[in-house]
Amino acid sequence: KLSKRLKAVADYVDKGARLADIGSDHAYLPTYLVQKNEVEFAVAGEVVKGPFEIAKNHVAQANLKENIQVRLANGLAAIENVDKIDTIVIAGMGGILISEILEAGKGKLSSVKRLILQANNHGDTLRQWLIEHQFVIKAEQILLEAGKFYEIIVAEPTTNENPVLSANDLLFGPFLSKEKSVIFQQKWQKELNTLNKIIDRLPDEQTEKREEVLTEIAKIKEVLQ
Ligand code: SAM
Repeated sequence: KLSKRLKAVADYVDKGARLADIGSDHAYLPTYLVQKNEVEFAVAGEVVKGPFEIAKNHVAQANLKENIQVRLANGLAAIENVDKIDTIVIAGMGGILISEILEAGKGKLSSVKRLILQANNHGDTLRQWLIEHQFVIKAEQILLEAGKFYEIIVAEPTTNENPVLSANDLLFGPFLSKEKSVIFQQKWQKELNTLNKIIDRLPDEQTEKREEVLTEIAKIKEVLQ
Protein backbone atom coordinates (compact mmCIF):
# COMPACT_ATOMS: atom_id res chain seq x y z
CA LYS A 1 0.00 0.00 0.00
CA LEU A 2 1.26 3.43 -0.91
CA SER A 3 1.83 6.17 1.64
CA LYS A 4 -0.62 9.07 1.59
CA ARG A 5 2.18 11.17 0.10
CA LEU A 6 2.96 8.80 -2.78
CA LYS A 7 -0.75 8.24 -3.42
CA ALA A 8 -1.19 12.00 -3.80
CA VAL A 9 1.72 12.03 -6.28
CA ALA A 10 0.25 9.05 -8.19
CA ASP A 11 -3.07 10.87 -8.59
CA TYR A 12 -1.37 13.41 -10.89
CA VAL A 13 -0.18 10.72 -13.33
CA ASP A 14 -2.59 10.59 -16.27
CA LYS A 15 -3.93 7.24 -17.46
CA GLY A 16 -1.71 5.86 -20.21
CA ALA A 17 1.26 8.03 -19.30
CA ARG A 18 4.76 6.83 -20.14
CA LEU A 19 6.30 7.38 -16.77
CA ALA A 20 9.79 7.85 -15.39
CA ASP A 21 10.08 7.73 -11.60
CA ILE A 22 13.48 9.14 -10.73
CA GLY A 23 14.84 8.17 -7.31
CA SER A 24 12.31 5.38 -7.26
CA ASP A 25 13.80 3.63 -4.22
CA HIS A 26 11.83 0.34 -4.16
CA ALA A 27 9.76 1.17 -7.26
CA TYR A 28 6.56 1.34 -5.19
CA LEU A 29 5.05 4.14 -7.26
CA PRO A 30 5.39 2.56 -10.75
CA THR A 31 4.38 -0.84 -9.34
CA TYR A 32 1.20 0.63 -7.90
CA LEU A 33 0.32 2.47 -11.12
CA VAL A 34 0.92 -0.54 -13.40
CA GLN A 35 -1.05 -2.85 -11.09
CA LYS A 36 -3.92 -0.39 -11.18
CA ASN A 37 -3.77 -0.40 -15.01
CA GLU A 38 -3.11 3.31 -15.02
CA VAL A 39 0.28 2.96 -16.68
CA GLU A 40 1.69 0.36 -19.07
CA PHE A 41 5.28 1.48 -19.30
CA ALA A 42 7.51 2.96 -16.66
CA VAL A 43 11.18 3.50 -15.99
CA ALA A 44 12.27 3.34 -12.35
CA GLY A 45 15.59 5.15 -11.99
CA GLU A 46 17.70 4.75 -8.87
CA VAL A 47 21.28 5.87 -8.28
CA VAL A 48 22.07 3.74 -5.22
CA LYS A 49 22.85 0.06 -5.75
CA GLY A 50 21.00 -1.34 -2.70
CA PRO A 51 17.56 0.14 -3.43
CA PHE A 52 18.11 -0.51 -7.16
CA GLU A 53 18.59 -4.25 -6.49
CA ILE A 54 15.55 -4.34 -4.19
CA ALA A 55 13.46 -2.53 -6.82
CA LYS A 56 14.56 -5.00 -9.50
CA ASN A 57 13.62 -8.01 -7.35
CA HIS A 58 10.36 -6.40 -6.34
CA VAL A 59 9.39 -5.79 -9.99
CA ALA A 60 10.41 -9.34 -11.00
CA GLN A 61 8.40 -10.88 -8.15
CA ALA A 62 5.35 -8.85 -9.14
CA ASN A 63 5.80 -10.17 -12.69
CA LEU A 64 6.07 -6.66 -14.08
CA LYS A 65 9.42 -6.83 -15.88
CA GLU A 66 7.69 -6.18 -19.20
CA ASN A 67 6.18 -2.99 -17.89
CA ILE A 68 8.75 -1.52 -15.53
CA GLN A 69 12.39 -1.06 -16.49
CA VAL A 70 14.49 -0.62 -13.39
CA ARG A 71 17.71 1.24 -14.17
CA LEU A 72 20.77 2.10 -12.12
CA ALA A 73 21.40 5.69 -13.16
CA ASN A 74 22.02 9.20 -11.91
CA GLY A 75 18.94 11.40 -12.33
CA LEU A 76 17.46 11.75 -15.80
CA ALA A 77 20.25 9.63 -17.30
CA ALA A 78 17.82 6.77 -16.59
CA ILE A 79 15.69 8.01 -19.50
CA GLU A 80 16.41 7.06 -23.11
CA ASN A 81 14.84 8.63 -26.20
CA VAL A 82 13.19 5.36 -27.26
CA ASP A 83 11.27 5.28 -23.96
CA LYS A 84 9.14 8.19 -25.16
CA ILE A 85 8.65 9.27 -21.56
CA ASP A 86 6.00 11.99 -21.23
CA THR A 87 5.66 12.18 -17.44
CA ILE A 88 8.45 12.44 -14.89
CA VAL A 89 8.02 12.01 -11.15
CA ILE A 90 10.76 13.08 -8.75
CA ALA A 91 9.56 12.58 -5.18
CA GLY A 92 10.86 12.41 -1.65
CA MET A 93 13.85 14.69 -2.06
CA GLY A 94 14.76 18.26 -1.20
CA GLY A 95 13.85 21.01 -3.65
CA ILE A 96 17.50 21.83 -4.29
CA LEU A 97 18.39 18.24 -5.25
CA ILE A 98 15.32 18.01 -7.50
CA SER A 99 16.37 21.26 -9.24
CA GLU A 100 19.89 19.91 -9.71
CA ILE A 101 18.58 16.69 -11.23
CA LEU A 102 16.40 18.69 -13.66
CA GLU A 103 19.26 21.03 -14.52
CA ALA A 104 21.71 18.20 -15.19
CA GLY A 105 19.11 16.38 -17.32
CA LYS A 106 17.61 19.36 -19.20
CA GLY A 107 18.32 17.66 -22.52
CA LYS A 108 15.91 14.85 -21.62
CA LEU A 109 12.95 17.15 -21.06
CA SER A 110 12.02 18.15 -24.64
CA SER A 111 9.28 15.51 -25.08
CA VAL A 112 8.01 15.66 -21.53
CA LYS A 113 4.45 16.83 -20.99
CA ARG A 114 4.29 16.86 -17.21
CA LEU A 115 6.63 17.01 -14.24
CA ILE A 116 5.28 15.86 -10.88
CA LEU A 117 7.69 16.99 -8.21
CA GLN A 118 7.35 16.34 -4.51
CA ALA A 119 9.79 18.44 -2.55
CA ASN A 120 10.41 17.95 1.16
CA ASN A 121 11.75 21.52 1.42
CA HIS A 122 13.07 24.45 -0.67
CA GLY A 123 10.00 24.66 -2.89
CA ASP A 124 11.17 28.20 -3.76
CA THR A 125 14.37 26.98 -5.46
CA LEU A 126 12.37 24.46 -7.44
CA ARG A 127 9.72 26.96 -8.57
CA GLN A 128 12.48 29.34 -9.63
CA TRP A 129 14.10 26.61 -11.75
CA LEU A 130 10.76 25.78 -13.38
CA ILE A 131 9.88 29.32 -14.42
CA GLU A 132 13.40 29.88 -15.75
CA HIS A 133 13.08 26.80 -17.95
CA GLN A 134 9.74 27.37 -19.67
CA PHE A 135 7.64 25.30 -17.29
CA VAL A 136 4.42 26.63 -15.88
CA ILE A 137 3.01 25.45 -12.55
CA LYS A 138 -0.39 23.85 -13.13
CA ALA A 139 -1.25 22.56 -9.68
CA GLU A 140 0.11 22.33 -6.17
CA GLN A 141 -0.74 20.36 -3.10
CA ILE A 142 0.49 20.40 0.47
CA LEU A 143 0.05 17.51 2.83
CA LEU A 144 1.00 16.37 6.29
CA GLU A 145 2.04 12.82 7.01
CA ALA A 146 3.67 11.48 10.17
CA GLY A 147 4.37 15.00 11.37
CA LYS A 148 6.08 16.14 8.16
CA PHE A 149 4.89 18.62 5.57
CA TYR A 150 5.24 17.77 1.90
CA GLU A 151 4.62 19.89 -1.19
CA ILE A 152 3.70 18.56 -4.61
CA ILE A 153 4.29 20.79 -7.63
CA VAL A 154 2.87 19.81 -11.02
CA ALA A 155 4.42 21.65 -13.97
CA GLU A 156 4.01 21.53 -17.73
CA PRO A 157 6.10 23.01 -20.54
CA THR A 158 4.93 26.27 -22.07
CA THR A 159 5.94 28.06 -25.23
CA ASN A 160 4.36 31.29 -24.03
CA GLU A 161 6.15 34.01 -22.22
CA ASN A 162 6.33 32.59 -18.72
CA PRO A 163 4.61 34.67 -16.05
CA VAL A 164 7.09 35.99 -13.52
CA LEU A 165 6.38 34.69 -10.05
CA SER A 166 6.57 37.19 -7.21
CA ALA A 167 8.96 36.44 -4.34
CA ASN A 168 5.93 35.44 -2.28
CA ASP A 169 4.64 33.06 -4.94
CA LEU A 170 8.07 31.44 -5.17
CA LEU A 171 8.23 30.91 -1.44
CA PHE A 172 4.64 29.93 -0.65
CA GLY A 173 3.49 28.58 -4.01
CA PRO A 174 1.07 30.43 -6.32
CA PHE A 175 -1.74 27.92 -5.75
CA LEU A 176 -1.00 27.01 -2.14
CA SER A 177 -0.94 30.62 -1.00
CA LYS A 178 -4.26 31.32 -2.67
CA GLU A 179 -5.90 28.25 -1.24
CA LYS A 180 -4.42 28.75 2.26
CA SER A 181 -5.49 25.32 3.45
CA VAL A 182 -5.34 24.38 7.13
CA ILE A 183 -2.20 22.31 6.46
CA PHE A 184 -0.58 25.29 4.68
CA GLN A 185 -1.31 27.49 7.68
CA GLN A 186 0.07 24.88 10.06
CA LYS A 187 3.29 24.57 8.05
CA TRP A 188 3.96 28.30 7.98
CA GLN A 189 2.88 28.83 11.59
CA LYS A 190 5.48 26.21 12.57
CA GLU A 191 8.09 27.95 10.42
CA LEU A 192 7.14 31.26 12.03
CA ASN A 193 7.57 29.81 15.53
CA THR A 194 11.03 28.53 14.58
CA LEU A 195 12.06 31.90 13.15
CA ASN A 196 10.74 33.73 16.24
CA LYS A 197 12.96 31.54 18.41
CA ILE A 198 15.93 32.25 16.15
CA ILE A 199 15.41 36.00 16.29
CA ASP A 200 15.17 35.87 20.12
CA ARG A 201 18.62 34.31 20.27
CA LEU A 202 20.32 36.38 17.58
CA PRO A 203 22.56 39.05 19.12
CA ASP A 204 21.90 42.67 18.11
CA GLU A 205 25.31 42.95 16.45
CA GLN A 206 24.27 40.44 13.80
CA THR A 207 22.31 43.13 11.99
CA GLU A 208 22.33 41.54 8.56
CA LYS A 209 21.21 38.12 9.73
CA ARG A 210 18.54 39.67 11.94
CA GLU A 211 17.22 41.65 9.02
CA GLU A 212 17.08 38.57 6.85
CA VAL A 213 15.10 36.65 9.46
CA LEU A 214 12.82 39.60 10.18
CA THR A 215 11.99 39.95 6.47
CA GLU A 216 11.09 36.26 6.36
CA ILE A 217 8.94 36.63 9.48
CA ALA A 218 7.11 39.60 7.94
CA LYS A 219 6.39 37.64 4.74
CA ILE A 220 5.00 34.70 6.68
CA LYS A 221 2.85 36.93 8.92
CA GLU A 222 1.44 38.56 5.83
CA VAL A 223 0.52 35.28 4.13
CA LEU A 224 -1.05 33.96 7.33
CA GLN A 225 -3.35 36.97 7.72
N1 SAM B 1 10.70 8.47 -4.66
C1 SAM B 1 10.52 7.64 -3.49
C2 SAM B 1 9.50 8.24 -2.59
O1 SAM B 1 9.10 9.39 -2.82
O2 SAM B 1 9.06 7.58 -1.63
C3 SAM B 1 11.83 7.47 -2.74
C4 SAM B 1 12.32 8.67 -2.01
S1 SAM B 1 13.87 8.38 -1.27
C5 SAM B 1 13.80 9.41 0.14
C6 SAM B 1 14.98 9.20 -2.37
C7 SAM B 1 15.60 8.23 -3.34
O3 SAM B 1 16.21 8.96 -4.40
C8 SAM B 1 16.66 7.38 -2.71
O4 SAM B 1 16.41 6.03 -3.00
C9 SAM B 1 17.95 7.89 -3.37
O5 SAM B 1 18.92 6.87 -3.52
C10 SAM B 1 17.45 8.37 -4.70
N2 SAM B 1 18.27 9.38 -5.37
C11 SAM B 1 18.88 10.45 -4.80
N3 SAM B 1 19.53 11.17 -5.73
C12 SAM B 1 19.31 10.55 -6.93
C13 SAM B 1 19.73 10.79 -8.26
N4 SAM B 1 20.52 11.82 -8.56
N5 SAM B 1 19.34 9.94 -9.23
C14 SAM B 1 18.55 8.88 -8.93
N6 SAM B 1 18.13 8.59 -7.68
C15 SAM B 1 18.50 9.42 -6.70
